Amino acid sequence: MINSLSNLLIKISILITGLTTVCFAYVQTNNISLTQVTKDVTYLASDELKGRDNYSTEIRVAANYIAKRFQENGLMGADGLSKTNFFQKYQITKITPQKISLTINGQKISAVNLAMASTIVNFSWQMNNSVKSSEFEIHSAGKNDDMAALVSALNNRGGKHLVLLNPAHKVLFERYQHYLQQGTTRLIQQHTKKNSAGVIVMALSTITADKIDRLNVSGISTMSKNELINVVAMLPGTTKPTEIVLYSAHYDHLGVKGGQGDVIYNGADDDASGTTAIINLAQYFAKQGNNARTLMFVAFSAEEIGGFGASYFSKQLDPQTITAMINIEMIGKPSKFGAGTMWMTGMERSTLGEQLNIVLAKSDKKIYKDPYPEQGLFYRSDNATLARLGVPAHSFSSTQLDKDQHYHQTSDDLSSLDLTSLHQIIKMLATATQPLVDGSITPSRIDKNLVKGKGLIF
Ligand SMILES: [Zn+2]
Repeated sequence: MINSLSNLLIKISILITGLTTVCFAYVQTNNISLTQVTKDVTYLASDELKGRDNYSTEIRVAANYIAKRFQENGLMGADGLSKTNFFQKYQITKITPQKISLTINGQKISAVNLAMASTIVNFSWQMNNSVKSSEFEIHSAGKNDDMAALVSALNNRGGKHLVLLNPAHKVLFERYQHYLQQGTTRLIQQHTKKNSAGVIVMALSTITADKIDRLNVSGISTMSKNELINVVAMLPGTTKPTEIVLYSAHYDHLGVKGGQGDVIYNGADDDASGTTAIINLAQYFAKQGNNARTLMFVAFSAEEIGGFGASYFSKQLDPQTITAMINIEMIGKPSKFGAGTMWMTGMERSTLGEQLNIVLAKSDKKIYKDPYPEQGLFYRSDNATLARLGVPAHSFSSTQLDKDQHYHQTSDDLSSLDLTSLHQIIKMLATATQPLVDGSITPSRIDKNLVKGKGLIF
């Protein structure tokens, strides 16, 4: 699960509420084995894979393992033709700012008061004699203006912008500066839209846009390219092959960071647990061998760095053909509702949750509503990308994110998981989604207009 920018920018203090434990009598419903689940999650979360960093060689080893598991269960590959090729490859670039300079009315603005997000490696703009340039826009955020809203609107619009910020915004500015200097990552698309390229330069200054007579602004960044892999498997449907049920999880995590002691971010819960779920669901439905709809099982890369795996995947097929997306994210520990229970994000956005709960009610179980609406979790995993295209796309999770001490820490390792709870949740997902697989339920589509867009620049 990704850390949201707003979470990085604004620290929300959350009250930790008391635990409510609900116990379910668990009925053995299918043959997903605890032994196999344990084996998969243990390997994916092992130190050997060094935290599955997107830019590492170890993430390839993880991809090979997932592909091997799909292959040994006889699934079809990413192309829907072979039973050997499970890799969907794509490229991303990372653009990292190196130098920004800004001179306004002959006065140089110090580098400590400058920040930029750019998809352009090298740019230089001028303005003279108060004549507005058509090349870029200048905006000001006064003391009482909402800086975050302004920056977010420009990011969603794209284009080239200089934003002059009243020094009252210093604290928030410095958070953006810290975030943006790590660089911005982008998906390389075959037909990059011209207007998707953009720049936002931010400057702390007492000068406002209407007081500018002349201006020089330039920026230099470095660019690196990387090839990443989604691991994709398929079980063609028997009677409704053009309707797809998508099971997904991300297999990337944060890698290794320097320092003393434990430096490996194993990501056992985030999201070796979800990846284990899709591998075992794939095995389960392959053995069943009678799915009416086509099932796709996808292990996404690049979730932790901005969701580029899901973004690329969503452009390789018609999103209209996806009946539902079951995105599985952090299910390795009991939820606040008890061991073996889970909740889903955006439950109110489609009928999927209530339809799955009709099935589960027969065994006195249910999928709960996301108990942490203030965390914006609907937008913090790969489901959001497909939801923006109208797919009933939700994340299913059991994390107690409001008090999880292991979230995005090196301690998110195997010893922090409850493997029995993980196993129960995977089995519950198999049971709950059976009518989707059979083609007997079809959830309503998500209203795209109610899903917030993603920034074009950072
Ligand atoms: Zn994460």
